[in-house]
Amino acid sequence: MKILYKKKETLPIEELKNYQLKQINKILSKVKNTPYYKNKLPDRVESLSEFSQLSFLSKNDLRDAFPYQLLSCPKEKLVRINASSGTTGIPTLSYSTEKDLILYTENEKLHYSHTGLSSKDIIQCMIGFNLFTAGWGCYHGAMGLGASVIPSGPGNTQRQITLLKQLKANYCFSTPGYLQHLLEVISENEWKDISLKIALTGGEPLTKEFQQLAKEKYNLEIYNFYGMTEFATHIASECHMHSGLHINEDYFYPEIVDPDTNKILPVGEYGELVLTNLKREAMPLIRYRTRDITRIIPEQCPCGRTHIKIEPITHRIDDMIIINGVNIYPSQIEECIYKHLNSATNYLIHITTDKAIKKLTVDIEIQDEIINNKSKLINLEKSIVESLKASITITPKIKFIPLKTIPENRGKSKRILFE
Ligand SMILES: [Zn+2]
Repeated sequence: MKILYKKKETLPIEELKNYQLKQINKILSKVKNTPYYKNKLPDRVESLSEFSQLSFLSKNDLRDAFPYQLLSCPKEKLVRINASSGTTGIPTLSYSTEKDLILYTENEKLHYSHTGLSSKDIIQCMIGFNLFTAGWGCYHGAMGLGASVIPSGPGNTQRQITLLKQLKANYCFSTPGYLQHLLEVISENEWKDISLKIALTGGEPLTKEFQQLAKEKYNLEIYNFYGMTEFATHIASECHMHSGLHINEDYFYPEIVDPDTNKILPVGEYGELVLTNLKREAMPLIRYRTRDITRIIPEQCPCGRTHIKIEPITHRIDDMIIINGVNIYPSQIEECIYKHLNSATNYLIHITTDKAIKKLTVDIEIQDEIINNKSKLINLEKSIVESLKASITITPKIKFIPLKTIPENRGKSKRILFE
C-alpha cells in the first residue's frame, strides 16, 4: 500500500530524532510567553534526554489553566474551540487557529491514508460532529483525501442501515461498541445490500477478538485509531499490518514513563504514554500525561514506516480496579470471555463486598440454546472461571443470562458496577 508522506514517514531514526529536537526547541521558544508555561520551562534543551527531565502537564493542569491560560497565540487568531466532557464541572478545552486546522488535516490525512482511503471511497461517519473532536478528524482527514463523507453522526441505527444500503458507503467510522451493536442489528439478508468493507474505530478500546470476528463473519477489516480531545486530532492508527498503531512522529514526540516513578521506561516496557506537540499554534501541549497504558513495539514495522508503533490502548490508569490487593483491568476479563465464546458478547462486572472481602461476579449474555444445554453450560462456566483465575488470580462467579438482558452498549463502555 502506498505511503502518503513517504519522506516523513520513512525518515531514518537518527534524522527523525534530530528533527524532533529541533521542533521541541521551536515549541519551547514559542510557549515562553504563554501564561501557564511562564517560568516553568527553559527556552531550549540540548538533547531529548534533557527534555525528558522537564515537568509534566496533567489533565488537572489543563483544568487549572481554564479557560485561556494555555493559549499560545492572540485570542483573535482562534477559529474553533473544542471541549472534553466536564464531568467534574470544568471541561478541558482545545483551541485551534486556522493554521492548526491545516496541520490537523495533514495529520489526519496521514492516518486515514494508512487504511488506503482515497477519492474513490465513501465513508459513513457514525461519530459526532460536536464539542468533542472525534467527527472533526473525519472532516479533515477523509475529506482531505478527497473521499465522500456522510456525516451521519452516532445512534439512530435504522437510519444508519438505510443510508448504508442507499448510498453504499464502503468505509465507516464509529466506536467499536457501536459497530458491534450495528452488526448485531443488521440481518444476514440486509448485509447483502451493504457495501462496507473497511471500518475505522476509535474512542474506546478495540479488542483483537472483535477485529477477528468482523473479518471472519463479515469480511470487514477494522483499523484501530487512537486520539484525544486535548490534542484535537488523532495520535496513532494502524497500518495494513494490523500489528500496532503508528504514532505520527512528525507531529508528536512520544515517551513511555513509569506512572509511579515518572522515569522514562526502556523501549518495550508497558507504562503511561506521554505526548508532546511538535507542531501546533494555539495550544502546544508539552509532556502531557495521557493516563493511557501502552508500550512501544521494539521491532520496526514491515510496512516500511519508521514512526514508532504502540500496542493498542486497552486500559487507562484510571480504569484499574483493585480487588483484594490485585490490580485488574476490565479488558483482561473481556479477553477471557471473548476467547471462550469465540465472539464478542455483552457482559457486566459486579463487585460486591462481603465482610471486607471483595467478590467478583460476571454476568455474560449467551444464546438460549447454550443456556438450555446443562452440560455445555457447566463446561463453559468451568473454562471461563479457570481462564479468569489464571489471568487475574481471582476466582469469579459466572452468571449466564439470555441475550439482550443487559442494556445495549453504546458509546463509552460502562461495564463495572460496585454494589
Ligand atoms: Zn506499519
